[in-house]
Amino acid sequence: MNYNSTRNNSTVVSAAQAIAQGISDEGGLFVPQLLPKYSLEDIKALAAKDYRGRAKKIFADFLSDFTEEEINESVDAAYTAEKFGSDNPAPVSYIENGSTKMSVLELWHGPTCAFKDMALQILPHLLTKSVKKTYSGKEAVILVATSGDTGKAALEGFKDVKGTKIMVFYPVNGVSPMQKRQMATQKGENVSVVAIEGNFDDAQTGVKKIFTNPDIKAKLAKNNMLFSSANSINWGRLLPQVVYYFSAYCDMLNEGKINAGDKINVVVPTGNFGNILASFYAMNMGLPINKFICASNSNNVLTDFIKTGTYDKNRKFYTTISPSMDILVSSNLERLLYHLTDGNAQKIADWMAQLSANGKYTVDDDVKEKLTSMFYGGYCDDENTQKTISDMYKNENYLCDTHTAVAINVYQQYVAQTNDTTTAVIASTASPYKFAKSVLEAVTDEKLPEDEFAMVDELSAKTKTAVPTPLSSLKDAQVRFTFECKVDEMPDAVLDGLKIS
Ligand SMILES: *Cc1c(COP(=O)(O)O)cnc(C)c1O
Repeated sequence: MNYNSTRNNSTVVSAAQAIAQGISDEGGLFVPQLLPKYSLEDIKALAAKDYRGRAKKIFADFLSDFTEEEINESVDAAYTAEKFGSDNPAPVSYIENGSTKMSVLELWHGPTCAFKDMALQILPHLLTKSVKKTYSGKEAVILVATSGDTGKAALEGFKDVKGTKIMVFYPVNGVSPMQKRQMATQKGENVSVVAIEGNFDDAQTGVKKIFTNPDIKAKLAKNNMLFSSANSINWGRLLPQVVYYFSAYCDMLNEGKINAGDKINVVVPTGNFGNILASFYAMNMGLPINKFICASNSNNVLTDFIKTGTYDKNRKFYTTISPSMDILVSSNLERLLYHLTDGNAQKIADWMAQLSANGKYTVDDDVKEKLTSMFYGGYCDDENTQKTISDMYKNENYLCDTHTAVAINVYQQYVAQTNDTTTAVIASTASPYKFAKSVLEAVTDEKLPEDEFAMVDELSAKTKTAVPTPLSSLKDAQVRFTFECKVDEMPDAVLDGLKIS
């Protein structure tokens, strides 16, 4: 199977090239030319396998230039019980007592307690194999700018993976104390972590400049290295997310919650549009999905887009208690538009040029019609997010994080407006302990302790739920990275970190 660029249909690359390169030269994103199609019989056959078996089948259909052995090796290394707490890395919990029944797809049982582990545990394996096929003998250098979750998940994924080095830059005052500690205590021989004096945008701009700095690129080449990217527009991050929608359907089938062929609704707390787009691919491959419910926080640019067909990022940016969704340009939306225009790359290139010039664009009527028939967009502010956490805990005895609460709230709005009670699968994207302060605040009336770890302990005591080991073990972990630098010192930090000059 080959891949096109969303902005140029004459760009045709293999899966390995798409993953090694990350983004197409003209700025477009790689999309599969054709999707494998699964019948109900195929889905039943998937249901007879475990998670890894399901993943192997789906990966094999998309990564046709990988050998069976390469795929098996990657999947078996990524989705272990040791890393995800059980043989099913993405289990479904059922909330069945209240007025709205929900199936919660828990995507946060991995080593960093957020759903990005689902993709970033396997990406390093896919990436090193892709680099070997396309740039044989080179070592891949991964640079990441992070506002929190991605950096830690990428570090854990690439830690001690042969043929790779990873450097993560984070804004010194722009991440939570827990996130900072997660990164500063990172283990592994091939990792480094640098705090920069500036905000997330400064970190991101700094990284982009290094990627395209000819001087640094030449130094890397001389040392047999090349830059590669682990960010969420890489096809190697999207594909692993398709698997868990199929897997959830299979689990629900096996557990008698649905019958083969029954449609489901999916509800996704959305930022960069990667997670929800993976469910769109799953539907186009044959998974029976009725509606995609796209949940945003106060940064509700997608809610408006789904309603009006106009994408407009010229608006106030809110810093919310669901920070992983604080985003005004949802990069992966470009892939959806490519498919909804039946692959009109010229049109996509035009819209994206308008977005970068004016911060907005309007899609054609037929595209808008397709969009609104398949997607429902809604949003939830911080106050209602905390109210939802509190209600879910009190009424359903289910403790959820802030991002998941946004999804649940928007789903409840959807049901109230439409009376559509199709079985709903809610994507739960982080452990409540990762956002302990906001969650504790929602479930208690008492004064919060000052220290982040004290909040974690109190949340555990109050709700009688266990703190995930990757977070509880942080308290005593050794701090390894304390280096801070200015934005213009980032290039030197990279060269120093790589020990090249
Ligand atoms: C990244 C993230 C999201 C947003 O996912 P997208 O694929 O970017 O839409 C939601 N919740 C959490 C906890 C995240 O880390």
